[in-house]
Amino acid sequence: MLVVIRVQKNNVISFKVSEKTMEMMDEEFDWCKRDKVPEYAKWQAKDGDTVVTLYNSGKVVFQGKDADIASDFWITTEKINSGKVDVKSSGDKKKSEKINTIKPDIYYSSSIGSDEVGTGDFFGPIVVTASFVSKCDIEFLEKLGVKDSKKLTDEQILDIVPKFIKKIPYESYVLSNESYNEYNKKYKEDINMNKIKSLLHNKVLYKLSNKIMNYDHIIVDEFAKPYLYYNYLKDVPNVVRNIEFFTKGEDKHLSVACASLISRYIFINEFDKLSKDVGFTIPKGAGNNVDEIGKQIINKFGFDKLKQIAKLNFKNIEKITRN
Ligand code: MN
Repeated sequence: MLVVIRVQKNNVISFKVSEKTMEMMDEEFDWCKRDKVPEYAKWQAKDGDTVVTLYNSGKVVFQGKDADIASDFWITTEKINSGKVDVKSSGDKKKSEKINTIKPDIYYSSSIGSDEVGTGDFFGPIVVTASFVSKCDIEFLEKLGVKDSKKLTDEQILDIVPKFIKKIPYESYVLSNESYNEYNKKYKEDINMNKIKSLLHNKVLYKLSNKIMNYDHIIVDEFAKPYLYYNYLKDVPNVVRNIEFFTKGEDKHLSVACASLISRYIFINEFDKLSKDVGFTIPKGAGNNVDEIGKQIINKFGFDKLKQIAKLNFKNIEKITRN
């Protein structure tokens, strides 16, 4: 049975979670885990004002003034994972996923969508795009084969994007590695990829939604819970508020798919420029091949070069600078 203990005074909320929820939390909080781990704990993470501790026993503790909202999502998740809520049986999983994925009133509307690329890549910038797809252009885009950029190869993206980019209004923002590294230096304690994403999505959405008047929805491919998204923007003057957040946003509306393809297109071209600049092929991602190339770049140009072309807060930097 799921027992949730709320200590109102100090805003501490604790409950026990199943193996499955533990795994999900592992992943979700990976970006903000602390180096120090309390006794008997698997890890401790700090997300905004909330400290989350997951113990080996499966007990999880949320502390801080937003502990309520921060824990709500996980209480629901645990209810689902532990079978306390009616979940579809595995047999009709495919069917229910499909029903879940496409909402015709959204899919066939005229909407603005945004998506980003580059946040998991050691080398290269972060690119965020918002695009507008009118319902009149849906058929044209479907015929071109516009879909989730993750399902297309770089070659396909280089082929397909020029065929629609002049027809689809969009706004892109490229966050250079220099700016990214400056930002992280400034907010040392607060290095937070989701905050960076929120700021950039808002930037392009604000610009585009002021140019386009006849949109029905604004859709963001969800990377953070909406309350966190808006929390990251609390000091920003111009915040786009009428957003609908969806996971697998590319499937929900082609504006998200186009945004993801345009971001990817710009990203691929930036990588080509980088590779030409340093004289060897720069790999994407953050794997071992990245470490090798990082070492070669230091040998050839010195460490400062990395500041211009890589994200210095990635763990790769330890391996690259180790002798
Ligand atoms: Mn995305």
